[in-house]
Amino acid sequence: MVVGQGRDGDVRIEADLVVGADGIRSAVREQLWPGVSRPVPIGVTAWRGIAPAWRGELPVAISWGRGAEFGIVPLEDGRIYWFAAVNATPGTAPSEVDSRFSTWHEPIPALIAATGTVLRDELACLDKPLPTYVQGRVVLLGDAAHAMTPNLGQGANQALEDAVVLAALAGRADVAAAYDRERRPRSQQVARASRTIGRFGQQLANPLAVAGRNALMRVVPPRFALRSMARYADWRPPPTAPVSVPSRPGPDA
Ligand SMILES: Cc1cc2nc3c(=O)[nH]c(=O)nc-3n(C[C@H](O)[C@H](O)[C@H](O)COP(=O)(O)OP(=O)(O)OC[C@H]3O[C@@H](n4cnc5c(N)ncnc54)[C@H](O)[C@@H]3O)c2cc1C
Repeated sequence: MVVGQGRDGDVRIEADLVVGADGIRSAVREQLWPGVSRPVPIGVTAWRGIAPAWRGELPVAISWGRGAEFGIVPLEDGRIYWFAAVNATPGTAPSEVDSRFSTWHEPIPALIAATGTVLRDELACLDKPLPTYVQGRVVLLGDAAHAMTPNLGQGANQALEDAVVLAALAGRADVAAAYDRERRPRSQQVARASRTIGRFGQQLANPLAVAGRNALMRVVPPRFALRSMARYADWRPPPTAPVSVPSRPGPDA
């Protein structure tokens, strides 16, 4: 990378590759992919929290209601990560998580009551898949490239996969094109699947459709339901040449 000053006083930076990893509202995407894709709200409010170490064992679980879901994920240290989502009604003030889930089965109300900090987000994702993650020597990574709904818990994971692949391809003359080839199909497939699972799971609100879904879920073995989601988390980095890491200069350098 070369940093210099232009005649006009502007700082100029020359680099082999520029990585736009600036999130769902990426300024890099706005500048270099103008009008191609934009973040859109999906009409869902989500909350997340971590309850302190829990008495008794809790399994990983997702409970669905009409246009609502609550998920429980025990952490290694005994605390309980939970997430909740509800369809947001346009034009009305967002409800609070404790009032929205107060009548749900235990331990849901107790977990919420035991939680200190609760995060709230209005969910959004990119409205259209980008036709390319590359413009010249600029690539997009993570939410900047493929902001997705969180229904598969894959947004940050896909960003990490992008980074692993980019690091593995570093040094190749065709790094940007190879990155696009390797990452775009998978990350966009995961984004599509996540949106679909959200529509047929948490977002489903029509009473007949909800009854049908619930009847189906009663007969599908939990192992099968879990496998259909877990398959998106199964990923191996592509085989690559070893990446050489420059050694750090010693204290005398
Ligand atoms: C409710 C919810 C639940 C989620 N659950 C999961 C989950 O279970 N599993 C999972 O894998 N993912 C989950 N995600 C998605 C995950 O949070 C995102 O996909 C992930 O954070 C994307 O990482 P990123 O680095 O691409 O973008 P970000 O995390 O948004 O990071 C972008 C960074 O760029 C910085 N930045 C932006 N603009 C500029 C600028 N102009 N100059 C300098 N810096 C800038 C920002 O400050 C920020 O630090 C969830 C998201 C939500 C909303």
